[in-house]
Amino acid sequence: MQISMLRPVGSRVPNPVSGAPSESLSWDERYHTEFVDSGTSALSLAIALSIAANDLGETPEVILPAYGCPDLVSAVLFQGAKPVLVDLGNSSPCLSLGALKQALTDNTVAVIAVDLLGFHENLEGIKAVLDGTGVWLIEDSAQAFPPSSSGSGIADCIVLSFGRGKPINLMGGGALLIRRDRTQSAKAILQSLPKRRISTGATWRSKRFIFNLLLSRLFYGLLARIPFLGFGKTEFVPLGSITSLEIPPVLIRAGVSSYHKRAYFAGLYLESLAFLEDHGWSGPRELTKACVECSDSDPLPRLLRFPLLAPSVEIRDQAVFELQQAGICANSLYGAPLPGIRGLQSFFGRYASDFPNARAFSRHLILLPLHEDVRRHDIEHAAKILKSISAPN
Ligand SMILES: *Cc1c(COP(=O)(O)O)cnc(C)c1O
Repeated sequence: MQISMLRPVGSRVPNPVSGAPSESLSWDERYHTEFVDSGTSALSLAIALSIAANDLGETPEVILPAYGCPDLVSAVLFQGAKPVLVDLGNSSPCLSLGALKQALTDNTVAVIAVDLLGFHENLEGIKAVLDGTGVWLIEDSAQAFPPSSSGSGIADCIVLSFGRGKPINLMGGGALLIRRDRTQSAKAILQSLPKRRISTGATWRSKRFIFNLLLSRLFYGLLARIPFLGFGKTEFVPLGSITSLEIPPVLIRAGVSSYHKRAYFAGLYLESLAFLEDHGWSGPRELTKACVECSDSDPLPRLLRFPLLAPSVEIRDQAVFELQQAGICANSLYGAPLPGIRGLQSFFGRYASDFPNARAFSRHLILLPLHEDVRRHDIEHAAKILKSISAPN
């Protein structure tokens, strides 16, 4: 076993140099941007707006995918709403539209459409189901950039996260994008938030320096082996408060610009792992097709991590183990559907087995690192290991 380890996800925090070209954000025309202290806060705020707009007497319900980040649940509970889970499609990172239809009630105020790993949710399909209901469509784009609604204006609200492990890492923070026809009603809620400023002075810069240092193979490998740090564990943490943030524009610009500039090796993975298809595995192409009907020539979305569905949970677990032993931190993301995550079951009154597609997805999914520090030899090494597992001899 080796100590140094290629981290699973996460890009370096950018250097906010002044004088970066002043580009406007691609959604500025359609959406108002409100920066807040986290992606979870942004999502919770979006839910607050949808509750205010629907003005129900009963407990509002918010629909979310049964396989997802526990932060989704925290955001819903913080607003006193009830989280209602919907299964994924078959071998798909996207919601099952049939299950979505069945989950809608008169108390539904919003649907959270998650762009899991960078795949685009089928926003048009969801919008068609919601047509005429007054239910808000919230695009959770914490794992995708830019959000797909930024060009179409289809979602009522969009959520971004600037936490570690997200496309733009600013060591925390998030943004709520509110479609301009919804901003009037949002004013009172936004004005009631406490405010804080981010300053990129000496303290921030030291933090950035250390943060980036810890991304290195040696430090990551050391930290990952300290059990009480709980690296990579999926945990439910209730949301405590929402704060409005003032982030220096130069920092946002630096984040967007470094995202567009950094190395991206999905193509090399696709080539090196093409053989897996003959051994019962599937990859980003099949997952993209499962989201929306698209032709083979459609480009893949830009992904945050490189996903594969293994032929069985045993092979998946073996692959995660062997890759980690070899110093490549592959993992299985959340590990279970939301009702299977510790501390969450009681909120739904449903079991992981009630969501067969989400459960199968959680048992077959393996993610390989796809950040700027992945090297060709890592991908070749991963390919060799996966070959020895799926095609012995
Ligand atoms: C990370 C994440 C969030 C929460 O963002 P934070 O900034 O970590 O609070 C919400 N939704 C999804 C899909 C995420 O991946």
